[in-house]
Amino acid sequence: MTDLIRLTAAQTAAVVASGEASAVEVAQAHLDRITAVDERVHAFLHVDTEGALAAAAAVDTARAAGEHLGALAGVPLALKDVMTQKGIPTTCGSRILEGWRPPYDATVTARLKAAGVVILGKTNMDEFAMGSSTEHSAYGPTHNPWDLERIPGGSGGGSAAAVAAFEAPLAIGTDTGGSIRQPAAVTGTVGVKPTYGAVSRYGLVALASSLDQAGPCARTVLDTALLHATIAGHDPLDSTSAPVPVPDVVGAALRGDVRGMKIGVVTELGGEGYQAGVRQRFDEAVAILTELGAEVVEVSCPNFPYALAAYYLILPSECSSNLAKFDGMRFGLRVGENDGSPSVEQVMGRTRAAGFGDETIRRIMLGTYALSAGYYDAYYGKALKVRTLIARDFDAAYEQYDLLLSPTSPTTAFRLGEKTADPLTMYLNDVCTIPTNLAGHAAMSVPFGTGDDGLPIGVQVLAPALGEARMFRAAAVLEASVRSNQEVVR
Ligand code: GLN
Repeated sequence: MTDLIRLTAAQTAAVVASGEASAVEVAQAHLDRITAVDERVHAFLHVDTEGALAAAAAVDTARAAGEHLGALAGVPLALKDVMTQKGIPTTCGSRILEGWRPPYDATVTARLKAAGVVILGKTNMDEFAMGSSTEHSAYGPTHNPWDLERIPGGSGGGSAAAVAAFEAPLAIGTDTGGSIRQPAAVTGTVGVKPTYGAVSRYGLVALASSLDQAGPCARTVLDTALLHATIAGHDPLDSTSAPVPVPDVVGAALRGDVRGMKIGVVTELGGEGYQAGVRQRFDEAVAILTELGAEVVEVSCPNFPYALAAYYLILPSECSSNLAKFDGMRFGLRVGENDGSPSVEQVMGRTRAAGFGDETIRRIMLGTYALSAGYYDAYYGKALKVRTLIARDFDAAYEQYDLLLSPTSPTTAFRLGEKTADPLTMYLNDVCTIPTNLAGHAAMSVPFGTGDDGLPIGVQVLAPALGEARMFRAAAVLEASVRSNQEVVR
């Protein structure tokens, strides 16, 4: 019998469609895998065994009735716990949402269900998606399947780890500053941040609304393309959703080709401060793309060094507004309402003090400060100007180049606990991923071998807004030219 958990999503769908294995058998194999390894990996916050088996059984029934099956029918998926799924606990990695069960499906969730994708459960994440290591989860960190003492990246460490540990062939992540791509890089998986507006944000618990974007995680480029094609496309329920057709990313992933492409290597995203192994693999990627017919040239984006500072003003500002609704009155946790005769404000204060973790409180305070009268122009206003300059750097680069290229992350996975004491060193992990979010463009991380420490390294392919097709074409070439060791969680 085929080892069902080792199959890609595309292979899994084929196995289910041909009847070689039932969707229920596929789901059960993954649920068994979760039982076997997730105590050590802790990728999941909630496993929906009953719901997953019922969804799988529905696919088997549809197949038996001769109904048309979608490209991912019967394929298991792990859903980041920031995306609502009707009736299933959604915590965003926070105590403040403990016990909350959303009354509706996010559009992404609804599209997955309609496509016959089997949702296994909800994955761990840094609280409200703020972090680069999943250590800011209120429910304990996720461990990197390649080395359980190391971080799986963040904020979507649970989604990336689930895929890397063969607990699911597919996962959904969200990327506000790198939370799909950086975890992908450090777990040897593929992670895609689609163009802002390409995937509906309806039902995605907002962190920073001008930056947030949901996207796919998987072990192959083709699988991420299949998942993107399933979740992308205009949604009238999200006013920021782009009313444009979804590019043919599946065709692009199948026909990887960089002949005649002009690719710019961003000077500012590399060099000093980057691990030797990361630089080496990146240089090899450049050499391979050149060999295969691309013209690869260095390009300067002079404002990129200010991206991190601008992001850490814009994100906290938006987050301080978005998270104001978590006040103990509407969702989840409520603390101290029977302790004396407290006022509403006191209950709100007690709930927030007990329900939010340190990093969340830090960002809310930073954001309210940056938005306060007297400081607004100096901080938030200035950051918005920098954001415009960064978008202009991209525009100038894309006038000359089809795609841009950089490492995804400056280092391989660091040790759990190594960077929790100093927020700034944690923030620096996002230095390569943040510019894309500020501009609203697309980018993805493709695994490209390992460093001297034996840990995975990712190469980032960046594309202009709605340039997903050419991005997947180049990503498929990179993937085909490297074989990474997939022996994880021994
Ligand atoms: N690590 C970044 C942050 O902490 C990215 C977050 C994200 O993409 N959700 O803000």
